[in-house]
Amino acid sequence: MGTAEFDLISRIRARIGARGDVVLGIGDDAALLAVPTGMQLVVTADTLNAGVHFPHATTAADIGWKSLAVNLSDLAAMGAVPTWCTLSLSLPQAEETWVDQFLDGFLQLAEPHGIALVGGDTTRGPLSISVTAMGLVEAGTALRRDGARIGDDIWVTGTLGDAAMALHGVLEGAEASASSRLRLDRPSPRVAAGRRLSGLANACIDLSDGLLADLAHVCERSGMGAEVDLPALPASAELQQLDAAARWPLQACGGDDYELCFSAPPTHRELILQAMDFAGVDATRIGRIVPGQGVRALDGGGAEWHPARSGYQHFR
Ligand code: ADP
Ligand code: MG
Repeated sequence: MGTAEFDLISRIRARIGARGDVVLGIGDDAALLAVPTGMQLVVTADTLNAGVHFPHATTAADIGWKSLAVNLSDLAAMGAVPTWCTLSLSLPQAEETWVDQFLDGFLQLAEPHGIALVGGDTTRGPLSISVTAMGLVEAGTALRRDGARIGDDIWVTGTLGDAAMALHGVLEGAEASASSRLRLDRPSPRVAAGRRLSGLANACIDLSDGLLADLAHVCERSGMGAEVDLPALPASAELQQLDAAARWPLQACGGDDYELCFSAPPTHRELILQAMDFAGVDATRIGRIVPGQGVRALDGGGAEWHPARSGYQHFR
């Protein structure tokens, strides 16, 4: 690794403060972290590649935000409190302004969530950002995909389909609205909601590849089936302008929502609405867990609806 890369690491290190739970941070061969007794460490990693996970024209600050947001969303889905992260940067050239702006976006999200950058790697190569995020849960309380029970309500936070609409706009060369573009570039990971759901939800997943595709993972891991009522899917004011034929594919199959989808017994409805109110996010009931396997999406008349494709998949 050349001097330029060491300069970049120094720039990164200069912006990171000290913290009691980081015994040793950026600058040694590895970080030393203090895991409190009685807590379990939750670890997740996600990579963003230029042109695959974000359009080439995305700003450095937006890439910084999103690379952390997608990882915080995974921690949220586990009900974890974010604590530490590492950042592996592959950069075509050692550009200081790019790294500064990347960190602006990254730290803008890291600071309010109390997650500390404790290490990483900096190399030359095609633009690619890999973040590993760590969080803590009280032992045995993590939200998981495998706990859904027959009769559970299925819920989602926020609204669905806005990021997919923006991405569709970008790919078609059309101008996306500012609000949908924000949903694509600056997703808000539902960390507070995930925290409040532990003890209430039986199963939880974050929506990155599209509702039907992600809910299918919950069904598979839980050994259950699911029914989703398409007219119940929460839509932003902008998506409400579209007719069902245009809206449902975005909401049910579009990726990049970074909302939480969870199942919980009907007896918890009031508690869940209160909990989500405290977390500052809307929650909507969209279906139910049923015996069997797989996800069935139902139109207003209760007939099964089949999307053209059910979620974003790589290598296809
Ligand atoms: P090594 O050769 O031992 O892997 P490096 O020179 O790659 O060490 O890294 C030196 C220190 O800087 C390490 O503590 C590493 O975790 C940290 N570091 C490197 N790149 C980054 C980065 N992009 N973000 C945060 N810390 C980084
Ligand atoms: Mg290294």
